[in-house]
Amino acid sequence: MKDFQDIHGLLLQPKKIFITTHHKPDADAMGSSLALAKYLESEGHEVLVVTPTDYPSNLFWMYGNDKVIQFPDSKDQALEWLSDSTVVFCLDLNAVSRMNELGRFVVDAKNHASVVMIDHHTFPEDFAHFTFWDETASSCAELIYRLIVQRGDQNKIDRAMADCLYAGIMTDTGGFRHSNTSAEVHRIIADLMSKGASNVDIHSLLFDNNTIDRLRFTGYCLYEKLVYLPELNLSYMAISFQELERFNIKTGDTEGLVSYTLSLEGVKLGALFIDRGPLVKISFRSVGNFPANELAGHFNGGGHFNAAGGSSTETLDETVQRFFAILEKYKPLLV
Ligand code: 5GP
Ligand code: MN
Repeated sequence: MKDFQDIHGLLLQPKKIFITTHHKPDADAMGSSLALAKYLESEGHEVLVVTPTDYPSNLFWMYGNDKVIQFPDSKDQALEWLSDSTVVFCLDLNAVSRMNELGRFVVDAKNHASVVMIDHHTFPEDFAHFTFWDETASSCAELIYRLIVQRGDQNKIDRAMADCLYAGIMTDTGGFRHSNTSAEVHRIIADLMSKGASNVDIHSLLFDNNTIDRLRFTGYCLYEKLVYLPELNLSYMAISFQELERFNIKTGDTEGLVSYTLSLEGVKLGALFIDRGPLVKISFRSVGNFPANELAGHFNGGGHFNAAGGSSTETLDETVQRFFAILEKYKPLLV
């Protein structure tokens, strides 16, 4: 938050602006990027949103999605815009590595552009010129809302922007059930709804779009893959690459799967290990005083106290074994 005045100052004159976010962007990442892009365009800036990777199709309804560039598909176009930009926004991420290959180019751009990080994850890296960061914020979308309001432009939030921000806040709070759901979140949501955000449409667009493969995969995981260790108040799933292929699993299809581990009565730590081929992707979810982000730190990751992730270059089995070895130290927090 400390750099609000600097960020405000950067935006007083029309500029060419590059917005990016973390790899495999979720609703908060895309909602924040597209709401900010629309706001900046309404202020006379020229804006391009570039994602480091692809993202789930249930986010394609967001306003401005048709103009988003996915870096791996259009590197030249993205890099040309980046080299012409004088402001670069990095949204919903706290580390250069979260931008994959694009991260290196963003760091290089610091020589000619002001780099701004807007984020709500713990332990941010010091890679940007300016930061608008608050780990108590529910979501990056909440910070975008606050930035616009602090600039005196609350009335410039239109329905399309309100829909994007609603989607980001709603999903990052787990549908308003996680502990990051403050009274302020509800006040912001009320304002967004008064600007036209449709909770009915957004929930339906985000969640009522399962493919039969995905639904059957979920059933398979719950029946065949869920390991429940009541003596440790622990539950986890480890999914192989072959299983992803068998069910034709696409980007975003495994989102939400980890929540089932934590939905078991008494479970304090839930984990999901997915063999994505080159890497094993790991998600941790916890309740109470178990530091999921610290645990994720053992797997090149991080995140929030109760929701974090990381990755491993070992095999799936080796990753799970290492998880149990590391867990020894954390057992007092579980039992
Ligand atoms: P998820 O389990 O849904 O992929 O991620 C949960 C949280 O952990 C998100 O807030 C996400 O930003 C963070 N996270 C997930 N994977 C990584 C990672 O590899 N590195 C870091 N620093 N954070 C991660
Ligand atoms: Mn977020």
